[in-house]
Amino acid sequence: MVREIAQRPHPVGTAEHDRVRDHLVGALRELGVDTEIQQGVGRYPGSLRRDVVGMARVANIVARIPGTDSTGTVFLTAHYDSVASGPGANDDGVGVAAVLEAVRALRAGGTALRNDVVVLLTDAEETGLLGAEAFVASGKDGRANGVVVNHEARGAGGPVLLWRTTHPDSSLVDAVRKVAPYPNTDSLTTTLAGAQTGSNTDFASFEPGGLRVLDWAYAGRSAYYHNIFDDPAHVDLATMQQMGDNSLALVKEFGGKDLRVEDDADRSFFQLPFGLLVVLPFWVIMALAAATGIAVAGLSWRLRRAGEASLRKIFGSAATALVAAPLATGAVYG
Ligand SMILES: [Zn+2]
Repeated sequence: MVREIAQRPHPVGTAEHDRVRDHLVGALRELGVDTEIQQGVGRYPGSLRRDVVGMARVANIVARIPGTDSTGTVFLTAHYDSVASGPGANDDGVGVAAVLEAVRALRAGGTALRNDVVVLLTDAEETGLLGAEAFVASGKDGRANGVVVNHEARGAGGPVLLWRTTHPDSSLVDAVRKVAPYPNTDSLTTTLAGAQTGSNTDFASFEPGGLRVLDWAYAGRSAYYHNIFDDPAHVDLATMQQMGDNSLALVKEFGGKDLRVEDDADRSFFQLPFGLLVVLPFWVIMALAAATGIAVAGLSWRLRRAGEASLRKIFGSAATALVAAPLATGAVYG
């Protein structure tokens, strides 16, 4: 599938784009899923330049698998367009392939899910998230109680990360902990990524539409991102397998849950080896932080009294720790 999608660059408005679109529609119909092309006009939700509004005619691919007793919709999403400067094997051919393979596995398993599943392969993500914007603006397709599992790439390998979620995130994170075989994530990352606006995926169009979103992406070997080397030869099969395994598990989990139950709180979470995700209520973290603060204050007081430390040294060492973390991060990134 990735070889089929990523033969050449296929940005919106090109003949190659139309070839990829038609191929994907055919592949979904072959899986026996009711598939249509949703035409529309997308508008860039952010602003690259204040005096410019990016717009394009878009064609989203929308496929529906009706649930048996639906309480909401699980969206499997990825974008099928590429940049003009590369064939987009990883970005986002792998995401599209993972979605299609999850659907194939679901159909082959023969189990009907309770909730509706909608495959949404968006158009013109690279030109400003236009397809996702048009989809949300159309106001159709079960946005109430909708959960999106989005697939992206900013590189050509490495672990697949849950790098951003909508908030509150309690039911999203609980589901990841429960079923995702590769729950690579932590709440510091998702909180920082949610706060930054520069680096965007279709998430930025889905979130204002009231959808709950899990934004998965991988970013290893990022030298192959958005250029001619983003071709099928530079796809990491282990990464692709990870993405698919997580998504298949999540679509089954959300497909069987009562999606009317709203998320009530944010979770604090971090990862341990062997795919273990530790998820804690926020108050536990606050209590641990307070206990740490009290312990440090007590220790400082004792050391000062014993004449082994001065206030200057204590604050100096604390500042060193604060500087060390960003320095180390910067060095690794560099
Ligand atoms: Zn992308």
